[in-house]
Amino acid sequence: MFFRLILGLVLGYVAYRVLRRLKEMFTLTGQTRQAPKVPEPDVLVQDPVCETFIPRQEALKITKDGQEYFFCSEGCLKRFQRGGREKVEK
Ligand SMILES: [Zn+2]
Repeated sequence: MFFRLILGLVLGYVAYRVLRRLKEMFTLTGQTRQAPKVPEPDVLVQDPVCETFIPRQEALKITKDGQEYFFCSEGCLKRFQRGGREKVEK
C-alpha cells in the first residue's frame, strides 16, 4: 500500500513536470522569437541529402555560407555537414 502511494506521488510529479515543461515551451516560443517572419506553415522544402520534401516547420534548418538548408532528419543533416555536398547544386 505504501508503495502504491509513492507510485502515485511519482506519477503525479512527472505529470506536473511534463505539463510545466509544455507550458514553458509555449511561453518561450511565444516570447523569445524576435520579430518572426511571415509564417509559412505549408511550404515544402527539399532535403539536399535524400531529396525528400518536408514541411518547412518540421524540417531541421542550418545556415551555411549564407544559405539555408533544410533536412528531414538529423541523420541527413550530419551527412550533409560531413561533406555530402555532391548532390547540392548552387
Ligand atoms: Zn533526408
